[in-house]
Amino acid sequence: MDERERAVVQSVPTGLYIGGEWREAASGARFVVEDPATGEEIATVADASEADARAAVDAAVAMQPAWAATAPRERGEILRRAFEAILEAQDDLALLMTLEMGKPVAESRAEVAYAAEFFRWFAEEAVRIRGDFYISPDAATRVLTTRQPVGPSYLITPWNFPLAMGTRKVGPALAAGCTVILKPAEQTPLCSLALASILERAGLPGGVLNVVTTEHPGPISDVIIEHPGLRKLSFTGSTEVGSLLMRKASSGLLRLSMELGGNAPLIVFEDADLDKAVAGAVFAKMRNGGEACTSANRIFVHRSIAEEFAGRLAAALSALKVARGTEPGANVGPLIDHDALAKVSGLVDDAVARGGRVMTGGARTGERGYFYAPTVLFDVPTTARVFREEIFGPVAPVYPFDDDDEAIRLANDTTYGLVGYIFTESLKRAVRTIEALETGMVGVNQGLVSNAAAPFGGVKRSGFGREGGFEGIHEYLSVKYAALNLG
Ligand code: NAD
Repeated sequence: MDERERAVVQSVPTGLYIGGEWREAASGARFVVEDPATGEEIATVADASEADARAAVDAAVAMQPAWAATAPRERGEILRRAFEAILEAQDDLALLMTLEMGKPVAESRAEVAYAAEFFRWFAEEAVRIRGDFYISPDAATRVLTTRQPVGPSYLITPWNFPLAMGTRKVGPALAAGCTVILKPAEQTPLCSLALASILERAGLPGGVLNVVTTEHPGPISDVIIEHPGLRKLSFTGSTEVGSLLMRKASSGLLRLSMELGGNAPLIVFEDADLDKAVAGAVFAKMRNGGEACTSANRIFVHRSIAEEFAGRLAAALSALKVARGTEPGANVGPLIDHDALAKVSGLVDDAVARGGRVMTGGARTGERGYFYAPTVLFDVPTTARVFREEIFGPVAPVYPFDDDDEAIRLANDTTYGLVGYIFTESLKRAVRTIEALETGMVGVNQGLVSNAAAPFGGVKRSGFGREGGFEGIHEYLSVKYAALNLG
């Protein structure tokens, strides 16, 4: 690390944030955070023990009534101040993110701005929580409905978007009047700690947000989930862990939101604008180095243009600069860790063994760190692992199709259902495909759907619940109905 990098890391508190205080773990344990570009240690952070986990929920439970009673405007204004503070700190936060997660600084800056938007959006939504009042059909009762905060919520986030996955949960929860315990991924705890410190300075009362970092997410989460005061679990991560946590949350009947894995199709119809389609595919595949739940995993192109498209995609991907995210001009950073690199290599090797053709890439790169070359595969059979499994890396398999029905059938031939992308100049074809895709979201002639003002989420094994948009705050509210007899 150079001097500036060290200074940015050192500016972040590395203890647990519980009840408005920064403290070491009860056991005194800490764990290492490494730079995936070099494998070097950049910091250590507190490794929570079970007693700390209990204390974090106790703090959230104790503050719940006061926070729910805080005026919505005040809750909104704290979020609004934090929105501004995040943007003021954009350069430092972006560098911090790159150091712990690896993505190029330009992408980190974009994530910081995206993350901040959730606070601006939910600052505005905090004051628009509405109920209803009406006369029952038999005129005997007045129906009064109101929305109340669900209560203390446990928020678990992944490493791939270290700041935005946190603000996308913390924003609506705080706006709704819920207190929270945030547990970031063990690979990337620093951005969440920096976020807590920003919210603290923005005037958030102690105990409303509690941050628990740990290298042992299973046992620590068990303690939190089993706490009788907890009311909700919101999880973003793999389908496997999401499904395990649903089972655990069933004993306390917790409210759930599940943002899980994806296996996104990207369909290029024969009438597509090819320039737009190639640019969209590059973005949908390469944003975050392919380490995104929304990443285009299976690219279906009409047979008449498939090989030309794959060639153009290969040319675009091979022009990307793969380097440590802090290097000027870097387009693609390292994968998160050794396991991720082994998984991506394994998927490509399997596809090649089954007859897939490598049009560019196809191997790891760099002398250290976890870099993999942007890769385009062609002629891969749909029996290959890469067709079924989430790739989570810079690998783009291109599959030809013959007609629209086949494209839609292939696109839906997956257990996942997060997002699909389509490229066509025909409105009729676009609407028909939007309706036929078994996904929660569709990008039409664009490779990006993420937007704080829109409802993000999936169907099938990509989960349920929505983050962002008008829907996002409802994940943290429950409806109360009162029957008024005025007779
Ligand atoms: P992961 O499931 O391994 O980990 C996610 C989080 O769960 C981390 O905080 C981790 O510490 C925690 N965790 C792991 N095991 C746990 C356990 N037994 N009990 C409690 N918590 C546990 O996923 P990951 O590798 O960090 O993230 C990648 C996955 O996240 C991909 O599948 C990706 O598609 C998904 N993702 C989904 C969305 C979405 O919005 N749908 C967004 C980003 C990432």
